[in-house]
Amino acid sequence: MTYQNFSLAQLQAMDAAHHLHPFTDHKDLRAAGSRIITRASGPYVYDTEGREILDGMAGLWCVNVGYGRDELAEVAYEQMKELPYYNSFFRCSTPTPVLLSQKLAERAPKNVNQVFYGSSGSEANDTALRLVRHYWALEGRPQKNRIISRHWAYHGSTVAGTSLGGMGGMHDQLYGAVPNIAHVMPPYAFELRRPGESDHDFGLRAAQAVEDAILEAGADNVAAFIGEPVMGAGGVKIPPESYWPEIDRICKKHDVLLMLDEVITGYGRTGAWFAAERLGLEPDTITTAKALTSGYQPLSALLVGDRIAKTLVEKGGEFYHGYTYSGHPVACAVALRNIEIIEREGLVERVRDDTGPYFANALNERIAGHGIVGEVRAFGLMGAIEIVADKETRERFPGQGTAAVTLRDHAIEGGLMMRAVGDTMILSPPLIWTRDTIDMACDRIVTALDRAEKDLR
Ligand code: PLP
Repeated sequence: MTYQNFSLAQLQAMDAAHHLHPFTDHKDLRAAGSRIITRASGPYVYDTEGREILDGMAGLWCVNVGYGRDELAEVAYEQMKELPYYNSFFRCSTPTPVLLSQKLAERAPKNVNQVFYGSSGSEANDTALRLVRHYWALEGRPQKNRIISRHWAYHGSTVAGTSLGGMGGMHDQLYGAVPNIAHVMPPYAFELRRPGESDHDFGLRAAQAVEDAILEAGADNVAAFIGEPVMGAGGVKIPPESYWPEIDRICKKHDVLLMLDEVITGYGRTGAWFAAERLGLEPDTITTAKALTSGYQPLSALLVGDRIAKTLVEKGGEFYHGYTYSGHPVACAVALRNIEIIEREGLVERVRDDTGPYFANALNERIAGHGIVGEVRAFGLMGAIEIVADKETRERFPGQGTAAVTLRDHAIEGGLMMRAVGDTMILSPPLIWTRDTIDMACDRIVTALDRAEKDLR
């Protein structure tokens, strides 16, 4: 059975009849009909009508090497023929996770040398939460188990991922979060900076909120702070430069572990292999997934720092945790080749030295001045555009999120896939974008902004 035997209407009807989608209002979906993407090549995706859309989101922040990489398909095929699956429980291993772990240890900050695999970022954060609390228990301090996180954080959609995250709507549907996780203000200057407050001071104030939460609980009761280096799904909220050094200082001062969630920022997106490197951090855990395989296979890798690993190995006995697909041989083979492509094509350096700065400049020069844009932000190849009704007062359009959805629909109509988060538009393109692709994307954003403004005013 192939999809070509069905019309778009038939596919949409079957989709509506049987398929529950993630993060979707199904009544809306059924009324509108799903957009069905059938193939992709380089920076483009194509839908059932053959429409070519520039993918400004790299799938879902993951297809860093772009689409249509035959060698990734070939390496998966070869691995499936040789050994499609074997587990890594019970003192077994297979070659590809061994080689991948060695490679990741080389690329990670120098204090990070161990890897625990899962199939998704959410799973990796479950592992991270268990590991961090287990670490303190093994150290004889089981009460040191509170985790500090932030409002608007996104750490996945399992019960632990949602509990760690700070999305109000998701928490409302939890009906019982994992206990002892606190959330503080995020470093989101656009909405939270006070009149007259400098970016620097705002960054320190946002970090102080973390220290206040540690002091309130008592440092003896706080296991770790978790954060995305740049909040992604929460709206590409880029912290002021003062934020992370201060967080680092606070964590060290109170002996609180640092958990970085690099599910989006890992593997080149910020112009470094890991944002930790760009920010000068040596975290105790680094959660990674998505671009580890450029989305060609589901795979996550929790990178574990020496401090936790040493205790786990020396004092831990058996760690009662793992997934059937931990260290999946095919996914790990694809990850190895994906990393080889990133290295061979110098994609990290390209983002750092060329396309990253060009992207930031293009957003500033071509988008920031538009009548419904309140601010643009960029960090490597992550970008945000704040949509406002009034540039001076930053007042939003009525109906929270409606303006950004209007803009998103115009962008897709005009051949650019973007995402709307509240009143913020976000971009996270494949790292293969060139200056020309960035120019093309900006042309399409300007057209979409003009059309959206007409609709909204
Ligand atoms: N952490 C961050 C920072 C993410 O952006 C995501 C997904 O977008 C996750 C965790 C969850 O990853 P997954 O959807 O693979 O479970």
